[in-house]
Amino acid sequence: MAFSVHVNIERCTGCGNCVVACPVNALELYTLDPVTREKIYTVKDGKSVSLDFRAELCAGCGVCVGACPYKVIRLSGKGELPEAARTAA
Ligand code: SF4
Ligand code: SF4
Repeated sequence: MAFSVHVNIERCTGCGNCVVACPVNALELYTLDPVTREKIYTVKDGKSVSLDFRAELCAGCGVCVGACPYKVIRLSGKGELPEAARTAA
């Protein structure tokens, strides 16, 4: 897949806006149970947040970038397309 979403997890508050906004459910927000290592789908104190990104689902729409109130998401990958493909699109 040509697209990749990068989150500055140090500044992510775990608000979940990006997860809700993604039209193809490519983002998943969770914390890990320290004992069982199972995923917990609630955020604790705005910390220990993991944001999973499923590249195979991402359409590169950029909605998550716009939905993040803290501007900590960056989308890359469009640049991997050949110049001709981008201008033709
Ligand atoms: S770029 Fe679009 S499809 Fe990809 S994770 Fe963000 S909202 Fe979802
Ligand atoms: S919208 Fe931004 S701050 Fe909120 S969970 Fe997503 S990346 Fe984190």
